[in-house]
Amino acid sequence: KQQPETGIDSVLTAKKRIAVMTSGGDAPGMCAVVRAVVRAGIYYDCEVYGCYEGYSGLVQGGDLLRKMEWEDVRGWLSLGGTLIGTARCMEFKERWGRLKAAKNMILRGIDALVVCGGDGSLTGADLFRSEWPSLVDELVATGELSAEQTAKYRHLTIVGLVGSIDNDMASTDNTIGAYSSLERICEMVDYIDSTASSHSRAFVVEVMGRHCGWLGLMAGISCGADAIFIPERPPSASGWREDLKKVCLRHREKGRRKTTVIVAEGALDDELQPITSQQVKDCLVEIGLDTRITTLGHVQRGGSAVAFDRMLATLQGVDAVRAVLESTPDTPSPMIGILDGKIVRQPLMEAVKLTKSVATAIAAKKFDEAMGLRDSTFKESYANFLDISKHDDGSQVVDESKRLNIAIVHVGAPTATLNPATRAAALYCLSKGHTPYGIQNGWSGLVRHGAVRKLDWLDVEEWHNLGGSEIGTNRTLPSTDMGTVAYYMQKYEIHGLIIIGGFEAFRSLHELKVAKENYPIFNMPMVCLPATVSNNVPGTEYSLGSDTCLNTLVKYCDAVKQSASASRRRVFVVEVQGGNSGYVASYTGLVTGALAVYTPEEKISLRTLQEDLELLSENFKKDEGDNRSGKMFIRNENASDTYSTSLIAEIIRESGGGKFESRTAIPGHVQQGRVPSAMDRCLAARFAIKACQYIEETNFAAQSAITRLWNEGFGSNLTFKGHSETDLKFVYKHGKKHLILSDNAKVVGIHGTNVIFEEVDELWENYTDVALRKGKDMHWTEMVTVNNILSGRSVLRKTQ
Ligand code: ATP
Repeated sequence: KQQPETGIDSVLTAKKRIAVMTSGGDAPGMCAVVRAVVRAGIYYDCEVYGCYEGYSGLVQGGDLLRKMEWEDVRGWLSLGGTLIGTARCMEFKERWGRLKAAKNMILRGIDALVVCGGDGSLTGADLFRSEWPSLVDELVATGELSAEQTAKYRHLTIVGLVGSIDNDMASTDNTIGAYSSLERICEMVDYIDSTASSHSRAFVVEVMGRHCGWLGLMAGISCGADAIFIPERPPSASGWREDLKKVCLRHREKGRRKTTVIVAEGALDDELQPITSQQVKDCLVEIGLDTRITTLGHVQRGGSAVAFDRMLATLQGVDAVRAVLESTPDTPSPMIGILDGKIVRQPLMEAVKLTKSVATAIAAKKFDEAMGLRDSTFKESYANFLDISKHDDGSQVVDESKRLNIAIVHVGAPTATLNPATRAAALYCLSKGHTPYGIQNGWSGLVRHGAVRKLDWLDVEEWHNLGGSEIGTNRTLPSTDMGTVAYYMQKYEIHGLIIIGGFEAFRSLHELKVAKENYPIFNMPMVCLPATVSNNVPGTEYSLGSDTCLNTLVKYCDAVKQSASASRRRVFVVEVQGGNSGYVASYTGLVTGALAVYTPEEKISLRTLQEDLELLSENFKKDEGDNRSGKMFIRNENASDTYSTSLIAEIIRESGGGKFESRTAIPGHVQQGRVPSAMDRCLAARFAIKACQYIEETNFAAQSAITRLWNEGFGSNLTFKGHSETDLKFVYKHGKKHLILSDNAKVVGIHGTNVIFEEVDELWENYTDVALRKGKDMHWTEMVTVNNILSGRSVLRKTQ
């Protein structure tokens, strides 16, 4: 065999026998981990054993520890829970149990263990590794095994993956299963919302999280909750009831017909007394609300993993195999995590220790410390939640001189996140005393009808789970009539502009920045929030709406695959959106287990088609009679001018020679999704609030600069809204001198978990392929490599 593509060639001679297990509470994505470990293991010339029922599989051995083949994990990406079972194994906590486990492993020649579980499972794994030499000695000393039998097994390799719905592990931003669980919570609360509104009821929704409030916090943001209770931010024991009543009553007085309070099962007050759902309900009943409790329970563990968890599980599973092969007796056991969007290896025991220290910090009432030990965005998300819920109480309103008019416009095709982002921006503005304006129906609405509307609290408060665009969107650019756009910005004294949309939004921002030469109003801070299913805006690895699109495609492709497997001999060619960017196609291929993915970046050649047809034919031979063997090709809409979706389907049919047939499936606009995904809702709030803060900071900085210039005697050269120092803001008129900001037009981007602001001209000039309407960077190459490994494409190529 030839060497594989990734950089671990030097260790490939050391063929390993790896056992993979899932342990502790189950989490969506665990099946995807096993699939990735089995297939990557085989690709890297290892043998992989499935260890069934958690550590019991090691302790009992026999049929619970059995070799897995490539075909064994076919179809596992779309399955929930774990198909190799999980268990809490008490025997493994005892040395005699671990002794039995070591013997079973050595008898099968297994020298590496990949464990996917929570901190308990990873602690057990680390202990096992550290004890391993003494366990081997004891097996020899007691005659259970001979010295010869154990000679090759003096060292055990351990790699940990975190499967947990709680997102409670330190040293990683996300655990496998957490976003799936959050998605289930959002779905359930959305269902509750309709009945709550109908009857004008209050609902207390209890979510999982005994020691970690991540689910509770994110559910609060994404479900538009009035209040949340989480362990890391305990409210005052003496005051929380009154505070809760106040916020819920205030929202009712403003016109909200329903009340939603999220309670994490581990919620506490600052005296460390539990806050229960019943206590919360009692408070709401006291203020006259017809209140019900819904405890979501195991629904939160259920179901198929969302796109993000499938991606995380797959990339981490492959990296676990690479980590096994690269490990030496001296390297500490790694835990595979994700930080800032990159798959990373962290020392396993340090991560477990840090995780446990959160509970210690809470027990010692060091709540700030506990918050700090959570993932990098936890604290910020908590502040965001307050800004869009509790802070409508007027406590955060800024000085009159600092109150701003902020306009929001939607540009381009709708995505499911336009409304949640607008809601968060508007609620944030209102909490600070600013005035949010919605420009109706994009730039053309403004130019033709001067359609600008003030957004009130009640207008937007229900938009957290609403797809489409309530203020309207279209593709028109401001250059259609820049003078009129400038006129309305001046008329409404706009101090900051938020443009939400895809490539047209990005282009609009660039046009406005260029136009400031003629229209000084465009010196105000302006921000583009990328929101497009194609994720083709330069400057960001993620666009709002792309997660919803991916989840829509995941459901669509799972159904298509099921249909293909039911008819046994059918192949589907699915055409997905993405314009000239292959991101959506590559990601979808990775998380649905497509046999081949065609993108504009890679193009389609006769040779690749030929190879993929060979792979297809091999697959059909091997899967004879297998009802999980649905086959699917993914083709981006612009992957080739010649090889259209229907032509590829015809070529497949022709090459099948009657043995298999093909169909096309084109989801089209369905990909925009109807309801925004949980992840999109959370990120929409984060992007939107960051954009408002940028506008605030820039205005405040400019105000100070103007004040300083005024004091230095330059005041008469500047144009102000009013005539007093406290009235200084961005208002510009032709024919007068004005304050110029060189960098005032930003694109908000996500790089990993960091939100960054980049100047539009810098991106336009250096990182944009204007003709192809996308960025020049391809940040998803690892997805392509890994999908090629796991689909069998790379195996075929390396054996040719
Ligand atoms: P979750 O986060 O869902 O609770 P977990 O991995 O923390 O997952 P645990 O029940 O703590 O779940 O651990 C799962 C299994 O790991 C245990 O049943 C046991 O077999 C093993 N294990 C846990 N802690 C240890 C330990 N200290 N020593 C040996 N084995 C352990």
